[in-house]
Amino acid sequence: MLFGPEHIACTRSAFQSAERLTGKHFGFGPDGWLRHPYDVRTLALLREHEVNSSVFAQLFRYGAGHPEAGPRLRGSDFYRVCIQDNRILDAVHRSGSFIRLVPLMLYIAVHELVHIVRFCRGESDFDMPAPERIAEEKRVHEITRQALRPVASPELDLVLQCFSDDYVIEGIYN
Ligand SMILES: [Zn+2]
Repeated sequence: MLFGPEHIACTRSAFQSAERLTGKHFGFGPDGWLRHPYDVRTLALLREHEVNSSVFAQLFRYGAGHPEAGPRLRGSDFYRVCIQDNRILDAVHRSGSFIRLVPLMLYIAVHELVHIVRFCRGESDFDMPAPERIAEEKRVHEITRQALRPVASPELDLVLQCFSDDYVIEGIYN
C-alpha cells in the first residue's frame, strides 16, 4: 500500500509543522535546519535496503558524496527519513477511527527530527549499542512529547499513548 497524493501532502505538512515545533524546542534560529541536513522519502522512492515493513520509518545517515543528495543538503553528511507507507496506513486502518493519520504523521516527524538534532549535536551516538538505544528511545519519546505540547489535542494524546517509549517506531542504520 503506497501513499496517495493526499497522504504525501499530509507527510509534507507534518514535517513542516515538525520543523517548526522541534526547532522551537531546541531554540533554532532561521537557518537551524540547514545545519541539520536531512531529507524525507516515502515508500515509492525508497531503495531496497531502505524498505522495512515492520516499522513506521527508518533513519539512515549518508555521506556528503551520496549521489541522491539534493541541493538543500549542501555537500555535507545528511540523514534520510524513510517513511514506510504501508506500515503507517495499516496502523491507521487497524485502529478504526481511533488513530488518525495527521497526528500520527506529526508524531513520527517530530520523533525523527529529535533523533537527527541529537545525532548532529553529538548528544547521541548514531552507532550506539542496543542497550543504549533503548534508553535513547525513551529520551527521544519524552522530548517529542514536550515539543508537541504547544499543539496538544486529544487525537495527539492517543498517538502518544499508543506509540509510547516501549513501542518500536523505527530502525536506525548507517
Ligand atoms: Zn526513535
